Amino acid sequence: MSNPATARPVRVRFAPSPTGELHLGGLRTALFDYLWAKHTGGTFILRIEDTDQKRYDPKSLESLMRGLRWLGLEWDEGPDVGGPHAPYIQTERAAIYQQHAQKLLDSGAAYRCYCTAERLDEMREEQRRRKQPTGYDRRCRHLSPAERASQEAAGLPSVIRLAVPLEGKTTFADLIRGDITVENRQLQDEVLLKSDGLPTYHLAAMVDDHLMEISHVLRGEEWLPTAPIHKLVMEAFGWELPVLVHLPVILDPSGKGKMSKRKKVVEGKEFLALVHEFISAGYLPDAMFNFLTNVGWNYDPEIEIFEREEAIARFDVARINPKASALPYEKLDWINSQYIRQLTPAALKEQLIPILSKQLKIAPAKLQNDARLDILVPQIQERIKRLDEAIGWIDWAYKTADEIVYEDPSLLLGRKLDAAQSIAVLEDGAALLQTVEPFLPDDIQAAFRERAAAMGVSAGGYFGPFRAVITGKKVSPPLFESLQALGREEVLRRVARGIEVLGELT
Ligand code: GLU
Repeated sequence: MSNPATARPVRVRFAPSPTGELHLGGLRTALFDYLWAKHTGGTFILRIEDTDQKRYDPKSLESLMRGLRWLGLEWDEGPDVGGPHAPYIQTERAAIYQQHAQKLLDSGAAYRCYCTAERLDEMREEQRRRKQPTGYDRRCRHLSPAERASQEAAGLPSVIRLAVPLEGKTTFADLIRGDITVENRQLQDEVLLKSDGLPTYHLAAMVDDHLMEISHVLRGEEWLPTAPIHKLVMEAFGWELPVLVHLPVILDPSGKGKMSKRKKVVEGKEFLALVHEFISAGYLPDAMFNFLTNVGWNYDPEIEIFEREEAIARFDVARINPKASALPYEKLDWINSQYIRQLTPAALKEQLIPILSKQLKIAPAKLQNDARLDILVPQIQERIKRLDEAIGWIDWAYKTADEIVYEDPSLLLGRKLDAAQSIAVLEDGAALLQTVEPFLPDDIQAAFRERAAAMGVSAGGYFGPFRAVITGKKVSPPLFESLQALGREEVLRRVARGIEVLGELT
């Protein structure tokens, strides 16, 4: 299907600069590109805008691709998969931008500027002193041919600047914000090609958007001020701007500030920002896909959980809400918990292994065959919102009896029982645990209930000390599965220790 707004096949690009780790805002842009491409049967392109060599971070490209693939955003054209407009890494396209800059020089739409960094500093200093707005004073725009020739003859380094019209207005359209007009005198003669021969974003992105036949540019709202320059660059070449869609700013979960590019703590709560942090915390890609789709767009105000295919079918760039949107992380947690519940226990175990392996320092292959996990995973499935929370529910099963700390020994007391009575329960249960066969949850439970009744103790009162001695915690997965997971011998060791600790209370 083609897009009625342009009647061109839809081609969208995610064009990150590899200057650091991918953050959630970038991932949202890529997701909307992807949704629009899939919705229209169009093409999703990954283009790497690495022409700012000072800010280049060699690690970021790999982590960027990992983050996109984690979410399932496979690109149709891009650096590693190639495509009809390769290369897709801008530093590998330097000659293309140089040729295009030359065209603008030839037509007079751009000019060479020989001003040195020192001269520009002095100029700005002077502008500040006079309380004028700072900006390039266009000195080189007005050089005579003779002056220009002498600068060239001296072999001075130069940049190429856009000759912005000195009067009049520039109007561009944003699909969700309407027409926006600026006075040309408020614009700068921006640099298009730097003295190192590499283009700036203004030149590279426009040349590529044109050559790569981009139909829609989805990018963060922070790029809105550059749009008039982009319109002028496109006009200088005699090209059309793609349809512009500036995506709303994302606010942090408190709704108070702009979402930051790094983890931050607001009112005592930690808010993650980088995609790799969400991956290690154990958010599932389906949950993140579902969550981010609704940040600036809305699937349906009544429906919280939906399939990817359903989102693709409904997605519409024209319905993106330009208003800043906050990131309700509690909603992400809730959505994630729903996706966790939908997994089979075997699939959940698979997902947990890499995270638990790091947390427990046990090799993944060993955890693969770990019977404790097979028993405990189904028990915690409805109790965790993030995979990294599993450890808090099951760490006790991976400790030795000595490592279980009873910070508050009164925890070992059964409900309404004193220390002596709790010891009696533990001794009674220990005798039972030595013999109960098979050592399985239902059998242990039946035996415990019988003994509780015989001792005249409530079931809860009888069970409580066992939960506490084996886990050292007030809250744990269900008791009988926990006993089974730990195994008879280890349970007995812990019961013996619990009795000792309680003995000190009597
Ligand atoms: N390279 C720019 C960035 O890092 C891309 C902006 C755009 O999509 O045009 O966000």
